[in-house]
Amino acid sequence: MFDNLSERLGGILDRLTGRGALTEKDVDAAMREVRRALLEADVALEVVRSFTERVREQAIGATVVKSVTPGQMVVKIVHDELVNTLGAEGQTIDVNSVPPVPIMMVGLQGSGKTTTTAKLARRLVQRDKRKVLMASLDVYRPAAMEQLAVLGRDLDIPTLPIVAGQQPPQIAKRALEAGKLGGYDIVLLDTAGRTTLDEEMMAEAAAIKTAANPHEVLLVADSLTGQDAVNLARSFDQRVGLTGIVLTRVDGDGRGGAALSMRAVTGKPIKLIGTGEKTDALEDFHPDRIAGRILGMGDVVSLVEKAAANIDAEKAARTAERMRKGQFDLNDMREQLSQMANMGGISGLMGMMPGISKMKNQIAAAGIDDRILKRQVAIIDSMTREERRHPDLLKASRKKRIAAGSGQSVEHVNKLLKMHRNMADVMKAMGSGKRGPLAGIAQA
Ligand code: GDP
Repeated sequence: MFDNLSERLGGILDRLTGRGALTEKDVDAAMREVRRALLEADVALEVVRSFTERVREQAIGATVVKSVTPGQMVVKIVHDELVNTLGAEGQTIDVNSVPPVPIMMVGLQGSGKTTTTAKLARRLVQRDKRKVLMASLDVYRPAAMEQLAVLGRDLDIPTLPIVAGQQPPQIAKRALEAGKLGGYDIVLLDTAGRTTLDEEMMAEAAAIKTAANPHEVLLVADSLTGQDAVNLARSFDQRVGLTGIVLTRVDGDGRGGAALSMRAVTGKPIKLIGTGEKTDALEDFHPDRIAGRILGMGDVVSLVEKAAANIDAEKAARTAERMRKGQFDLNDMREQLSQMANMGGISGLMGMMPGISKMKNQIAAAGIDDRILKRQVAIIDSMTREERRHPDLLKASRKKRIAAGSGQSVEHVNKLLKMHRNMADVMKAMGSGKRGPLAGIAQA
Protein backbone atom coordinates (compact mmCIF):
# COMPACT_ATOMS: atom_id res chain seq x y z
CA MET A 1 0.00 0.00 0.00
CA PHE A 2 0.89 3.55 -0.51
CA ASP A 3 0.42 5.17 2.85
CA ASN A 4 3.88 4.44 4.10
CA LEU A 5 5.85 6.56 1.70
CA SER A 6 6.85 8.57 4.73
CA GLU A 7 8.34 5.49 6.37
CA ARG A 8 10.00 4.41 3.17
CA LEU A 9 11.61 7.76 2.62
CA GLY A 10 12.47 7.88 6.29
CA GLY A 11 14.19 4.52 6.07
CA ILE A 12 16.43 5.81 3.33
CA LEU A 13 16.98 9.38 4.27
CA ASP A 14 16.87 9.45 8.02
CA ARG A 15 19.92 7.28 8.29
CA LEU A 16 21.78 10.28 6.99
CA THR A 17 22.92 12.25 9.94
CA GLY A 18 24.07 15.23 7.95
CA ARG A 19 21.93 18.34 7.86
CA GLY A 20 22.03 21.18 5.45
CA ALA A 21 21.43 20.74 1.75
CA LEU A 22 20.11 17.48 0.29
CA THR A 23 22.71 15.90 -1.97
CA GLU A 24 22.10 14.42 -5.39
CA LYS A 25 22.72 10.94 -3.99
CA ASP A 26 20.16 11.31 -1.18
CA VAL A 27 17.60 12.70 -3.59
CA ASP A 28 18.08 9.94 -6.15
CA ALA A 29 17.55 7.33 -3.47
CA ALA A 30 14.40 9.11 -2.37
CA MET A 31 13.16 9.43 -5.95
CA ARG A 32 13.30 5.68 -6.45
CA GLU A 33 10.82 5.32 -3.57
CA VAL A 34 8.63 8.17 -4.78
CA ARG A 35 8.52 6.58 -8.21
CA ARG A 36 7.59 3.18 -6.87
CA ALA A 37 4.94 4.66 -4.60
CA LEU A 38 3.35 6.68 -7.40
CA LEU A 39 3.19 3.63 -9.64
CA GLU A 40 1.51 1.72 -6.85
CA ALA A 41 -0.98 4.57 -6.54
CA ASP A 42 -1.85 3.92 -10.17
CA VAL A 43 -0.30 7.04 -11.60
CA ALA A 44 0.48 6.71 -15.31
CA LEU A 45 4.10 5.95 -16.09
CA GLU A 46 4.67 9.01 -18.26
CA VAL A 47 3.30 11.19 -15.48
CA VAL A 48 5.49 9.49 -12.88
CA ARG A 49 8.56 10.18 -14.99
CA SER A 50 8.01 13.86 -15.51
CA PHE A 51 6.78 14.31 -11.96
CA THR A 52 9.81 12.74 -10.29
CA GLU A 53 12.09 14.73 -12.56
CA ARG A 54 10.50 17.97 -11.40
CA VAL A 55 10.68 16.95 -7.75
CA ARG A 56 14.28 15.86 -8.15
CA GLU A 57 15.27 19.26 -9.50
CA GLN A 58 13.69 21.02 -6.57
CA ALA A 59 14.98 18.63 -3.94
CA ILE A 60 18.65 18.65 -4.85
CA GLY A 61 20.26 21.35 -2.83
CA ALA A 62 17.13 22.09 -0.81
CA THR A 63 17.97 22.99 2.74
CA VAL A 64 16.66 20.67 5.42
CA VAL A 65 15.20 22.98 8.03
CA LYS A 66 15.93 22.34 11.66
CA SER A 67 13.69 19.90 13.54
CA VAL A 68 12.56 17.95 10.49
CA THR A 69 14.31 14.98 8.93
CA PRO A 70 15.51 14.85 5.32
CA GLY A 71 12.77 12.29 4.63
CA GLN A 72 10.11 14.65 5.89
CA MET A 73 11.61 17.44 3.82
CA VAL A 74 11.36 15.37 0.64
CA VAL A 75 7.77 14.46 1.47
CA LYS A 76 6.96 18.14 1.73
CA ILE A 77 8.54 18.88 -1.64
CA VAL A 78 6.66 15.94 -3.19
CA HIS A 79 3.42 17.18 -1.63
CA ASP A 80 3.80 20.70 -2.96
CA GLU A 81 4.56 19.44 -6.44
CA LEU A 82 1.52 17.15 -6.28
CA VAL A 83 -0.69 20.10 -5.44
CA ASN A 84 0.88 22.07 -8.27
CA THR A 85 0.35 19.30 -10.77
CA LEU A 86 -3.23 18.75 -9.65
CA GLY A 87 -3.90 22.45 -10.18
CA ALA A 88 -3.02 24.63 -7.24
CA GLU A 89 -6.30 26.47 -7.05
CA GLY A 90 -9.40 24.33 -7.29
CA GLN A 91 -11.78 25.07 -10.17
CA THR A 92 -15.44 24.39 -10.29
CA ILE A 93 -17.92 24.34 -13.13
CA ASP A 94 -18.84 27.57 -14.82
CA VAL A 95 -22.52 28.21 -15.48
CA ASN A 96 -22.25 31.90 -16.16
CA SER A 97 -23.46 32.40 -19.69
CA VAL A 98 -26.63 33.23 -21.56
CA PRO A 99 -29.41 30.94 -20.25
CA PRO A 100 -30.23 28.20 -20.87
CA VAL A 101 -26.56 27.26 -20.36
CA PRO A 102 -25.91 23.83 -21.93
CA ILE A 103 -23.66 21.47 -19.99
CA MET A 104 -22.73 18.19 -21.64
CA MET A 105 -21.74 15.03 -19.80
CA VAL A 106 -19.65 12.41 -21.59
CA GLY A 107 -18.01 9.16 -20.54
CA LEU A 108 -18.15 5.39 -20.59
CA GLN A 109 -21.20 3.39 -19.63
CA GLY A 110 -21.14 2.61 -15.95
CA SER A 111 -18.78 5.47 -15.08
CA GLY A 112 -21.53 7.17 -13.10
CA LYS A 113 -22.59 9.64 -15.77
CA THR A 114 -26.34 9.55 -15.14
CA THR A 115 -25.92 9.62 -11.37
CA THR A 116 -23.50 12.53 -11.70
CA THR A 117 -25.93 14.42 -13.94
CA ALA A 118 -28.56 14.11 -11.21
CA LYS A 119 -26.04 15.05 -8.51
CA LEU A 120 -25.01 18.15 -10.40
CA ALA A 121 -28.62 19.12 -11.08
CA ARG A 122 -29.39 18.75 -7.40
CA ARG A 123 -26.49 20.97 -6.38
CA LEU A 124 -27.39 23.62 -8.95
CA VAL A 125 -31.03 23.65 -7.87
CA GLN A 126 -30.72 23.28 -4.11
CA ARG A 127 -27.50 25.11 -3.39
CA ASP A 128 -27.25 27.60 -6.25
CA LYS A 129 -30.99 28.18 -6.71
CA ARG A 130 -30.88 27.66 -10.47
CA LYS A 131 -33.67 26.31 -12.61
CA VAL A 132 -32.39 23.13 -14.23
CA LEU A 133 -33.66 20.82 -16.97
CA MET A 134 -32.09 17.39 -17.47
CA ALA A 135 -32.16 15.47 -20.76
CA SER A 136 -31.01 11.94 -21.54
CA LEU A 137 -29.52 11.51 -25.01
CA ASP A 138 -29.02 7.78 -24.63
CA VAL A 139 -31.22 6.49 -27.43
CA TYR A 140 -29.70 3.01 -27.22
CA ARG A 141 -30.73 2.16 -23.71
CA PRO A 142 -34.31 3.07 -22.77
CA ALA A 143 -33.41 1.99 -19.25
CA ALA A 144 -30.86 4.80 -19.06
CA MET A 145 -33.47 7.36 -20.08
CA GLU A 146 -35.83 5.95 -17.52
CA GLN A 147 -33.10 6.04 -14.86
CA LEU A 148 -32.66 9.79 -15.33
CA ALA A 149 -36.42 10.31 -15.28
CA VAL A 150 -36.66 8.42 -11.98
CA LEU A 151 -33.83 10.42 -10.44
CA GLY A 152 -35.51 13.61 -11.66
CA ARG A 153 -38.80 12.64 -10.04
CA ASP A 154 -37.05 11.84 -6.76
CA LEU A 155 -35.33 15.21 -6.75
CA ASP A 156 -38.26 17.10 -8.17
CA ILE A 157 -36.15 18.27 -11.10
CA PRO A 158 -37.77 18.12 -14.57
CA THR A 159 -36.44 15.90 -17.35
CA LEU A 160 -37.08 16.32 -21.05
CA PRO A 161 -39.96 14.10 -22.22
CA ILE A 162 -38.81 11.13 -24.29
CA VAL A 163 -39.73 11.24 -28.00
CA ALA A 164 -39.12 7.99 -29.84
CA GLY A 165 -37.04 7.97 -33.00
CA GLN A 166 -35.01 11.14 -32.45
CA GLN A 167 -31.24 11.21 -32.85
CA PRO A 168 -29.03 12.56 -30.02
CA PRO A 169 -28.15 15.90 -31.70
CA GLN A 170 -31.88 16.49 -32.36
CA ILE A 171 -32.70 15.71 -28.75
CA ALA A 172 -30.01 18.14 -27.63
CA LYS A 173 -31.57 20.88 -29.76
CA ARG A 174 -35.03 20.06 -28.46
CA ALA A 175 -33.71 20.21 -24.88
CA LEU A 176 -32.29 23.67 -25.45
CA GLU A 177 -35.49 24.81 -27.11
CA ALA A 178 -37.49 23.53 -24.15
CA GLY A 179 -34.98 25.17 -21.84
CA LYS A 180 -35.50 28.51 -23.52
CA LEU A 181 -39.29 28.26 -23.58
CA GLY A 182 -39.44 27.09 -19.99
CA GLY A 183 -37.15 29.82 -18.67
CA TYR A 184 -34.47 27.39 -17.47
CA ASP A 185 -31.03 28.59 -16.39
CA ILE A 186 -29.19 25.40 -17.19
CA VAL A 187 -29.76 22.34 -19.38
CA LEU A 188 -27.79 19.20 -18.50
CA LEU A 189 -27.23 16.81 -21.41
CA ASP A 190 -26.54 13.22 -20.33
CA THR A 191 -25.05 11.54 -23.41
CA ALA A 192 -24.85 7.83 -24.17
CA GLY A 193 -21.80 5.87 -23.15
CA ARG A 194 -20.37 2.61 -24.43
CA THR A 195 -18.64 -0.05 -22.45
CA THR A 196 -15.40 0.68 -24.23
CA LEU A 197 -13.86 3.63 -25.93
CA ASP A 198 -14.94 3.54 -29.57
CA GLU A 199 -15.03 5.81 -32.56
CA GLU A 200 -18.81 5.74 -32.85
CA MET A 201 -19.21 7.14 -29.35
CA MET A 202 -16.65 9.86 -30.06
CA ALA A 203 -18.33 10.80 -33.35
CA GLU A 204 -21.70 11.02 -31.66
CA ALA A 205 -20.35 13.14 -28.81
CA ALA A 206 -18.72 15.46 -31.35
CA ALA A 207 -22.03 15.80 -33.26
CA ILE A 208 -23.90 16.62 -30.06
CA LYS A 209 -21.28 19.18 -29.19
CA THR A 210 -21.72 20.86 -32.57
CA ALA A 211 -25.51 20.88 -32.17
CA ALA A 212 -25.63 22.15 -28.60
CA ASN A 213 -22.49 24.29 -28.33
CA PRO A 214 -22.15 23.44 -24.64
CA HIS A 215 -20.59 25.84 -22.16
CA GLU A 216 -18.97 22.94 -20.32
CA VAL A 217 -18.10 19.46 -21.61
CA LEU A 218 -17.45 17.31 -18.56
CA LEU A 219 -15.88 13.90 -18.78
CA VAL A 220 -17.25 11.60 -16.10
CA ALA A 221 -14.60 9.03 -15.29
CA ASP A 222 -14.38 6.26 -12.74
CA SER A 223 -11.32 6.80 -10.58
CA LEU A 224 -11.05 3.07 -9.98
CA THR A 225 -10.27 2.38 -13.64
CA GLY A 226 -6.87 4.02 -13.40
CA GLN A 227 -4.97 3.76 -16.66
CA ASP A 228 -8.11 3.29 -18.74
CA ALA A 229 -9.51 6.49 -17.37
CA VAL A 230 -6.39 8.31 -18.45
CA ASN A 231 -6.57 7.00 -22.02
CA LEU A 232 -10.24 7.83 -22.10
CA ALA A 233 -9.60 11.39 -20.99
CA ARG A 234 -6.91 11.86 -23.57
CA SER A 235 -9.07 10.52 -26.42
CA PHE A 236 -12.14 12.50 -25.45
CA ASP A 237 -10.15 15.64 -25.11
CA GLN A 238 -8.48 15.23 -28.51
CA ARG A 239 -11.63 14.18 -30.33
CA VAL A 240 -14.39 16.15 -28.65
CA GLY A 241 -12.64 18.71 -26.44
CA LEU A 242 -13.24 18.81 -22.70
CA THR A 243 -13.56 21.69 -20.28
CA GLY A 244 -13.21 19.56 -17.18
CA ILE A 245 -13.31 16.19 -15.53
CA VAL A 246 -15.60 14.72 -12.88
CA LEU A 247 -14.01 11.81 -11.04
CA THR A 248 -16.47 9.33 -9.59
CA ARG A 249 -16.13 6.61 -6.97
CA VAL A 250 -13.46 8.57 -5.18
CA ASP A 251 -15.02 7.10 -2.02
CA GLY A 252 -13.69 3.70 -3.02
CA ASP A 253 -10.32 4.88 -4.25
CA GLY A 254 -7.71 5.07 -1.55
CA ARG A 255 -4.94 5.84 -3.97
CA GLY A 256 -5.86 8.95 -5.91
CA GLY A 257 -3.52 8.21 -8.81
CA ALA A 258 -6.12 8.65 -11.57
CA ALA A 259 -6.68 12.26 -10.60
CA LEU A 260 -3.01 13.08 -10.91
CA SER A 261 -2.63 11.27 -14.23
CA MET A 262 -5.71 12.70 -15.87
CA ARG A 263 -4.84 16.20 -14.89
CA ALA A 264 -1.24 15.85 -16.00
CA VAL A 265 -2.07 14.15 -19.31
CA THR A 266 -4.96 16.36 -20.45
CA GLY A 267 -4.10 19.56 -18.61
CA LYS A 268 -7.86 19.79 -17.94
CA PRO A 269 -8.97 20.57 -14.40
CA ILE A 270 -10.79 18.07 -12.24
CA LYS A 271 -13.81 20.09 -11.29
CA LEU A 272 -15.91 17.78 -9.16
CA ILE A 273 -15.64 14.44 -7.43
CA GLY A 274 -18.29 11.83 -6.71
CA THR A 275 -17.99 10.35 -3.25
CA GLY A 276 -20.95 7.98 -3.01
CA GLU A 277 -24.05 6.58 -4.66
CA LYS A 278 -26.52 9.10 -3.25
CA THR A 279 -27.32 12.28 -5.14
CA ASP A 280 -25.81 14.49 -2.45
CA ALA A 281 -22.41 12.80 -2.72
CA LEU A 282 -20.79 15.38 -4.98
CA GLU A 283 -17.93 17.60 -3.83
CA ASP A 284 -15.62 20.24 -5.17
CA PHE A 285 -12.16 19.00 -6.00
CA HIS A 286 -9.47 20.05 -3.52
CA PRO A 287 -5.97 19.39 -4.88
CA ASP A 288 -4.39 19.43 -1.42
CA ARG A 289 -6.74 16.74 -0.15
CA ILE A 290 -5.93 14.42 -3.04
CA ALA A 291 -2.23 15.16 -2.63
CA GLY A 292 -2.62 14.21 1.02
CA ARG A 293 -4.39 11.03 0.00
CA ILE A 294 -1.69 10.11 -2.48
CA LEU A 295 0.93 10.69 0.15
CA GLY A 296 -1.15 9.55 3.09
CA MET A 297 0.67 11.96 5.31
CA GLY A 298 -0.82 15.38 5.85
CA ASP A 299 0.92 15.63 9.22
CA VAL A 300 4.38 15.68 7.77
CA VAL A 301 3.46 18.53 5.51
CA SER A 302 2.23 20.75 8.32
CA LEU A 303 5.19 19.74 10.45
CA VAL A 304 7.61 20.98 7.82
CA GLU A 305 5.61 24.16 7.33
CA LYS A 306 5.72 24.88 11.03
CA ALA A 307 9.40 24.16 11.25
CA ALA A 308 10.05 26.56 8.39
CA ALA A 309 8.02 29.25 10.13
CA ASN A 310 10.06 28.74 13.29
CA ILE A 311 13.24 29.43 11.39
CA ASP A 312 12.00 32.93 10.63
CA ALA A 313 11.00 33.43 14.22
CA GLU A 314 14.42 32.27 15.41
CA LYS A 315 16.13 34.63 13.03
CA ALA A 316 14.01 37.54 14.24
CA ALA A 317 14.78 36.64 17.86
CA ARG A 318 18.51 36.59 17.12
CA THR A 319 18.36 40.00 15.49
CA ALA A 320 16.44 41.39 18.45
CA GLU A 321 19.05 39.99 20.80
CA ARG A 322 21.86 41.64 18.84
CA MET A 323 20.00 44.94 18.94
CA ARG A 324 19.64 44.72 22.68
CA LYS A 325 23.36 44.30 22.97
CA GLY A 326 24.01 47.25 20.69
CA GLN A 327 25.51 45.01 18.03
CA PHE A 328 23.22 46.22 15.28
CA ASP A 329 25.43 46.13 12.18
CA LEU A 330 24.75 46.78 8.52
CA ASN A 331 23.76 43.15 7.93
CA ASP A 332 21.00 43.58 10.49
CA MET A 333 20.01 46.82 8.89
CA ARG A 334 19.78 45.17 5.51
CA GLU A 335 17.59 42.48 7.05
CA GLN A 336 15.30 45.15 8.48
CA LEU A 337 15.11 47.05 5.22
CA SER A 338 14.22 43.99 3.20
CA GLN A 339 11.65 42.98 5.77
CA MET A 340 10.09 46.38 5.38
CA ALA A 341 10.06 45.95 1.63
CA ASN A 342 8.36 42.57 2.09
CA MET A 343 5.70 44.13 4.24
CA GLY A 344 4.67 46.54 1.52
CA GLY A 345 7.36 49.17 1.92
CA ILE A 346 7.10 52.31 3.97
CA SER A 347 3.55 53.12 2.96
CA GLY A 348 2.51 49.54 3.75
CA LEU A 349 4.11 49.76 7.17
CA MET A 350 2.54 53.10 7.90
CA GLY A 351 -0.85 51.65 7.10
CA MET A 352 -0.27 48.93 9.65
CA MET A 353 0.92 51.11 12.48
CA PRO A 354 -1.73 53.34 13.99
CA GLY A 355 0.65 55.71 15.79
CA ILE A 356 2.82 56.30 12.79
CA SER A 357 0.59 58.78 10.99
CA LYS A 358 1.98 61.51 13.23
CA MET A 359 5.38 60.90 11.71
CA LYS A 360 4.09 61.03 8.15
CA ASN A 361 5.11 64.63 7.50
CA GLN A 362 8.48 64.14 9.07
CA ILE A 363 9.09 61.13 6.91
CA ALA A 364 7.94 62.91 3.78
CA ALA A 365 10.15 65.88 4.59
CA ALA A 366 13.12 63.57 4.89
CA GLY A 367 12.33 62.45 1.34
CA ILE A 368 11.84 58.85 2.35
CA ASP A 369 9.91 56.61 0.06
CA ASP A 370 10.12 53.06 -1.16
CA ARG A 371 12.76 53.81 -3.77
CA ILE A 372 15.04 54.68 -0.90
CA LEU A 373 14.62 51.23 0.58
CA LYS A 374 15.84 49.69 -2.64
CA ARG A 375 18.73 52.15 -2.93
CA GLN A 376 19.83 51.45 0.59
CA VAL A 377 19.76 47.72 0.11
CA ALA A 378 21.81 48.15 -3.08
CA ILE A 379 24.41 50.18 -1.21
CA ILE A 380 24.75 47.58 1.54
CA ASP A 381 24.99 44.83 -1.07
CA SER A 382 28.02 46.57 -2.57
CA MET A 383 29.95 46.32 0.69
CA THR A 384 32.24 43.50 1.72
CA ARG A 385 31.32 41.27 4.63
CA GLU A 386 33.89 42.97 6.82
CA GLU A 387 32.54 46.40 5.98
CA ARG A 388 28.99 45.36 6.84
CA ARG A 389 30.09 44.08 10.17
CA HIS A 390 32.35 47.03 10.93
CA PRO A 391 30.99 50.22 9.34
CA ASP A 392 33.89 52.13 10.95
CA LEU A 393 36.11 50.77 8.20
CA LEU A 394 34.30 52.89 5.67
CA LYS A 395 36.66 55.75 4.82
CA ALA A 396 36.56 57.91 1.70
CA SER A 397 38.09 55.46 -0.80
CA ARG A 398 35.84 52.59 0.26
CA LYS A 399 32.80 54.83 0.12
CA LYS A 400 33.72 55.83 -3.42
CA ARG A 401 34.00 52.18 -4.43
CA ILE A 402 30.67 51.31 -2.83
CA ALA A 403 28.96 54.28 -4.44
CA ALA A 404 30.24 53.24 -7.85
CA GLY A 405 29.32 49.61 -7.27
CA SER A 406 25.75 50.42 -6.33
CA GLY A 407 25.28 53.17 -8.87
CA GLN A 408 24.73 55.80 -6.17
CA SER A 409 26.58 58.89 -5.02
CA VAL A 410 28.96 59.06 -2.07
CA GLU A 411 26.45 61.37 -0.47
CA HIS A 412 23.89 58.55 -0.48
CA VAL A 413 26.42 56.23 1.11
CA ASN A 414 27.02 58.81 3.83
CA LYS A 415 23.30 59.20 4.40
CA LEU A 416 22.92 55.48 4.79
CA LEU A 417 25.75 55.30 7.30
CA LYS A 418 24.27 58.16 9.27
CA MET A 419 20.92 56.41 9.28
CA HIS A 420 22.57 53.24 10.49
CA ARG A 421 24.21 55.09 13.36
CA ASN A 422 20.88 56.65 14.30
CA MET A 423 19.13 53.31 14.21
CA ALA A 424 21.83 51.60 16.22
CA ASP A 425 21.67 54.36 18.84
CA VAL A 426 17.91 54.29 19.05
CA MET A 427 17.86 50.54 19.36
CA LYS A 428 20.50 50.50 22.00
CA ALA A 429 18.63 53.16 23.93
CA MET A 430 15.36 51.29 23.68
CA GLY A 431 17.04 48.19 24.88
CA SER A 432 14.10 46.09 23.89
CA GLY A 433 14.42 46.04 20.14
CA LYS A 434 10.65 46.14 19.89
CA ARG A 435 10.25 49.37 18.01
CA GLY A 436 10.76 49.17 14.28
CA PRO A 437 13.49 50.93 12.37
CA LEU A 438 11.35 53.85 11.26
CA ALA A 439 12.42 56.04 14.15
CA GLY A 440 15.96 55.82 12.89
CA ILE A 441 14.97 56.49 9.33
CA ALA A 442 13.06 59.58 10.27
CA GLN A 443 16.16 61.02 11.84
CA ALA A 444 18.39 60.29 8.85
P1 GDP B 1 -23.66 5.58 -16.23
O1 GDP B 1 -23.85 4.33 -16.97
O2 GDP B 1 -22.32 6.19 -16.55
O3 GDP B 1 -24.74 6.56 -16.38
O4 GDP B 1 -23.52 5.18 -14.69
P2 GDP B 1 -24.59 5.29 -13.53
O5 GDP B 1 -24.85 6.70 -13.21
O6 GDP B 1 -25.75 4.42 -13.85
O7 GDP B 1 -23.75 4.68 -12.31
C1 GDP B 1 -23.33 3.36 -12.25
C2 GDP B 1 -23.27 2.92 -10.80
O8 GDP B 1 -22.25 3.64 -10.12
C3 GDP B 1 -24.53 3.20 -10.02
O9 GDP B 1 -24.79 2.09 -9.19
C4 GDP B 1 -24.19 4.42 -9.17
O10 GDP B 1 -24.92 4.44 -7.97
C5 GDP B 1 -22.72 4.22 -8.93
N1 GDP B 1 -22.00 5.47 -8.69
C6 GDP B 1 -21.98 6.60 -9.44
N2 GDP B 1 -21.18 7.52 -8.90
C7 GDP B 1 -20.66 6.97 -7.76
C8 GDP B 1 -19.73 7.45 -6.75
O11 GDP B 1 -19.20 8.57 -6.78
N3 GDP B 1 -19.44 6.59 -5.74
C9 GDP B 1 -20.00 5.33 -5.67
N4 GDP B 1 -19.65 4.57 -4.64
N5 GDP B 1 -20.86 4.87 -6.60
C10 GDP B 1 -21.18 5.67 -7.63
